[in-house]
Amino acid sequence: MKFKDALKEIQIYEAGKPIELVVREFGIDPKDVVKLASNENPKGCSPKVAKAIANNAYKAFLYPDDSMFELKAALSTKFDVSDKNIIIGAGSDQVLEFVSRALLSEGDNVLMSQVTFAMYEIYAKQMGANIVRTPSYEHKVDEFIAAYNEHKPKIVYLCTPNNPTGDATSKEDVLKIINAVDQETLVVVDGAYMEYAAARDERYRITPNDLIGFDNVIYLGTFSKAYGLGGMRVGYGIANAALIHELYKMRPPFNITTLSLLAAIEACQDEAFIEASIALHQQELPRYETFAKEHGFSYIESYTNFITYLFNDDMNSTKIADELFKEGVIIRNLASYKMNAVRITIGTKEQNDRLFAVLKKVLT
Ligand SMILES: *Cc1c(COP(=O)(O)O)cnc(C)c1O
Repeated sequence: MKFKDALKEIQIYEAGKPIELVVREFGIDPKDVVKLASNENPKGCSPKVAKAIANNAYKAFLYPDDSMFELKAALSTKFDVSDKNIIIGAGSDQVLEFVSRALLSEGDNVLMSQVTFAMYEIYAKQMGANIVRTPSYEHKVDEFIAAYNEHKPKIVYLCTPNNPTGDATSKEDVLKIINAVDQETLVVVDGAYMEYAAARDERYRITPNDLIGFDNVIYLGTFSKAYGLGGMRVGYGIANAALIHELYKMRPPFNITTLSLLAAIEACQDEAFIEASIALHQQELPRYETFAKEHGFSYIESYTNFITYLFNDDMNSTKIADELFKEGVIIRNLASYKMNAVRITIGTKEQNDRLFAVLKKVLT
């Protein structure tokens, strides 16, 4: 069978290693495995959400409300936008896919930073589009504008905070890039980790309302990270109503589950949980900076719930990640991004203690 040529260019997405793999390979007790690889909330999800899922488990036989009325109402209130401005996806990943399928044709260009979320490239390549990257992993305004003018991309991806590097782009810089782009180009602002950046520095806070006045910009958010619902697969896109209307043409019916919908609605009612999660994060993050300084290597200043450690030439990120893995500590190696670096999700105090102890052993 001959698959379309575009598929030859696609490298299958490599997800963070699951806990089950360490258990199977090294016989480590699941409770001794520390997973700091997928940027999940170490506090889990809100207990109120877990309770609502349990209490409503019997509803699994029902198709979800395909209008997603209640979740849209909750998001409308949260972000002060209309329900016509919102599309819900099975993770914001699915919204990325809608965007790609709605806009891209063979040979179109898409623009993104040198090192960014891997799915932008995969969805674009599925459509036969070409990838253009700026020279830096940071989102530099001048580099984006120069590449935009040269390649006239159909889509520009701005990931802030950026995964897997953890740096962020200020609202001012994001608006400079948006204002340099004409109406034929869609700018996707991926705010999967925005809750963390906004809590750290107001200049980095971008809300859907900041962008909704532009006809060619979409904001993406997710319940997978700060809200601790990665397993439920709920994300959203917010943009002007005409754009959302077009994306709806790409959406399969019942694209999130009855229980996912319910979980996300409940999660919107428990902002105290998000505040507590961010407080824990802000308490633990400086320990990672101190550890790096004490061991003589550098890191990227983090605006999100993970930190990227940049190793010196005499250290090897693959070797370090493998050795940690054997000890039951899972982190993300960034060798596939051509960086001698690792990405570590900031865990609970106990998880971080364990990471530091094992990493110290591996480094000496
Ligand atoms: C995790 C992540 C997403 C989407 O996650 P979903 O679970 O599909 O909502 C999108 N963008 C970035 C940068 C991410 O890290």
